[in-house]
Amino acid sequence: ILNPSWSSGNHQLGKVGRVPAGIRRPGLRIVVTGGAGFVGSHLVDKLLARGDYVIVIDNFFTGRKENVMHHFGNPRFELIRHDVVEPILLEVDQIYHLACPASPVHYKYNPVKTIKTNVMGTLNMLGLAKRIGARFLLTSTSEVYGDPLEHPQKETYWGNVNPIGVRSCYDEGKRTAETLAMDYHRGAGVEVRIARIFNTYGPRMCIDDGRVVSNFVAQALRKEPLTVYGDGKQTRSFQYVSDLVDGLVALMENEHIGPFNLGNPGEFTMLELAEVVKDTIDSSATIEFKPNTADDPHKRKPDISKAKELLNWEPKISLREGLPLMVTDFRKRVLNDEEGGTL
Ligand code: NAD
Ligand code: UDP
Ligand code: UDP
Repeated sequence: ILNPSWSSGNHQLGKVGRVPAGIRRPGLRIVVTGGAGFVGSHLVDKLLARGDYVIVIDNFFTGRKENVMHHFGNPRFELIRHDVVEPILLEVDQIYHLACPASPVHYKYNPVKTIKTNVMGTLNMLGLAKRIGARFLLTSTSEVYGDPLEHPQKETYWGNVNPIGVRSCYDEGKRTAETLAMDYHRGAGVEVRIARIFNTYGPRMCIDDGRVVSNFVAQALRKEPLTVYGDGKQTRSFQYVSDLVDGLVALMENEHIGPFNLGNPGEFTMLELAEVVKDTIDSSATIEFKPNTADDPHKRKPDISKAKELLNWEPKISLREGLPLMVTDFRKRVLNDEEGGTL
């Protein structure tokens, strides 16, 4: 309250707001929900590095204090243990809304909680954005396309989603979150931004989150077989986390609402991914086939022409460049047997 930058009410990008004359506005005030998680913590690093004030809201379901601990003591950083399903009062300029478990193992663990987080959590953050006039960015997902009948996927595609399946708490939850964002935009004039994120990997992922890149990397480091589900011919497109964070910030700062696909169009079968992991970590690693999970999308690859044209954004880091950066982090954590999350 004593700091004018925190108490001056609503000032959007480019506006001076109510900061008293003569006091230089030191940075934007930004909430990152889910900021102790994998993507959120990298976003927090970038925002703090450029001089913003960052409040992280996280319930530590899959996030870890270790991901943001290096900012403890920074007066521009604040960490609040809070569940976005409950209302909260804050005064900020921008809200990056990431809070939601992202890996299938985590979001299926308590599906009702996942859908509450997606619906009630997003509603609360939009209510907050409306009250204080903050700009709001939703991290939606390529899962809104379901098991896509269009390939690669464009933002205009409405998707092929099972509404009653085991993934529905997540993909239908995110679809509802997108609906809420658009309704707050149309009905209440909230400035919203929607990112549809494709599979992203990098340092600080939970080691045992069950996602394919984290599984393969941890398995190769532990000298265990790489578990390929199904026939391994299903595809995904893998984006390095710093590319995603650049895209999220570009989207927040641009005038376009979206939705925008943010992903790396490089498409790999799971068998090809296993080969890249073997080349990077251990060429003697073996593969073990396991049954696939229900409703697993057969292929996924973003069409990113909209983001290229309107946000001037495209990913820079290929899988073969990004994977070693993640392996360095995983090697330390796997060997120390350090584990994150509260599951
Ligand atoms: P993550 O699980 O590492 O991070 C999610 C964070 O949200 C965690 O810190 C968790 O503790 C927190 N959280 C969960 N429920 C909460 C609640 N009710 N209240 C407060 N905090 C809560 O996942 P991530 O990979 O960093 O994903 C971040 C966002 O990006 C998610 O919304 C996810 O749906 C989206 N996304 C990620 C990917 C990807 O490949 N990583 C792909 C598509 C979309
Ligand atoms: N909300 C919040 N913080 C705020 C303003 C609203 O958490 O600063 C929550 C509020 O509790 C409500 C939701 O956001 O559950 C939607 O708020 P809105 O004002 O749009 O709807 P209403 O409260 O009128 O139903
Ligand atoms: N997968 C796999 N082995 C694993 C984990 C996942 O072959 O150990 C497959 C999974 O069946 C899916 C793909 O990898 O086809 C991506 O799964 P992930 O959970 O990483 O992400 P999502 O399904 O959400 O894209």
